[in-house]
Amino acid sequence: MGKIAVVGSNMVDLITYTARMPGPGETIEAPRFEMGCGGKGANQAIAAARLGAEVMMVTKVGDDIFADNTIRNFEESGIDTRYVERVPGTSSGVAPIFVEPSGENSILIIKGANALLSPADIDRAAEDLKGCDLIVMQLEVPLETIYHTIAFGARHGIETLLNPAPAPTDLDPKRIEQVTFLVPNQTELATISGLPVTSEAEAETAARALIVRGIRTVIVTLGARGALLVTKGEETRRIEPVRVTPVDTTGAGDAFIGSFARYYVENRDLDAALHMAVRYAADSITRPGTQKSYAGREAFEAFCA
Ligand code: ATP
Repeated sequence: MGKIAVVGSNMVDLITYTARMPGPGETIEAPRFEMGCGGKGANQAIAAARLGAEVMMVTKVGDDIFADNTIRNFEESGIDTRYVERVPGTSSGVAPIFVEPSGENSILIIKGANALLSPADIDRAAEDLKGCDLIVMQLEVPLETIYHTIAFGARHGIETLLNPAPAPTDLDPKRIEQVTFLVPNQTELATISGLPVTSEAEAETAARALIVRGIRTVIVTLGARGALLVTKGEETRRIEPVRVTPVDTTGAGDAFIGSFARYYVENRDLDAALHMAVRYAADSITRPGTQKSYAGREAFEAFCA
């Protein structure tokens, strides 16, 4: 099976369940607290690793207890952490999340050490990255580092996948042209293309606009409607969703990408990988949580059977 590198973020979710949000200067008691590992990069790495892929993570953590938690979480899934660097004097990426009884979420994101992942870190990992079959990236780390990694992949003939999330308005389309796969959801596609994406037809038009600008393959995730594969010079293909009763759709996109990467590197069969990705993402939304909802290989094979 092939090898995957994830160049991206890690976060620790600090989830407080509260009856209401405190006002300015007010202290109130909340009934429940939970901690969970997250960050788009980490989520995608964990999904791929749980399915048996060989995964190397390139990321930065702070010098706090959250870093220990994140590294232990990677190790428990068998992820190579040689390039998970601890930065002295910096906090890890954390996301305090407040959940009210209505289900309303208020979220703060502190990128911490994630904001320090630099092109030099990619160069330091260069020899090991050259041994990978696919480099997977998102945009919770500096854009310059992502541009640098895409160029590195192109130079060394390593395929790359960019999940442009969260979508920045200042993304330079020229500098992502060489990516092998661009995998946005509908909102991200609208931001990057500057076109409306409220229907499947508009998603195809927007993806084609990116292809005209030079990107070869765009995979648009469409939530409950599955996904679209839009490739230069080929007809658009629709990947049908799997019908499930959703319990919690958080992290479905990361489940889709991690599993896509895992099955794609197995033998570079794009259709087979997409077929598995819609299944893995659908399975993950039948359980609460993000990484907690990602199945291991055996359980997923049982779901597919
Ligand atoms: P999130 O931000 O919640 O992680 P996303 O917006 O990045 O998700 P989506 O397009 O919502 O990504 O979902 C990713 C994939 O998950 C879809 O392409 C689809 O295969 C699957 N999926 C999501 N929601 C559903 C659903 N309700 N039923 C079946 N499959 C779903």
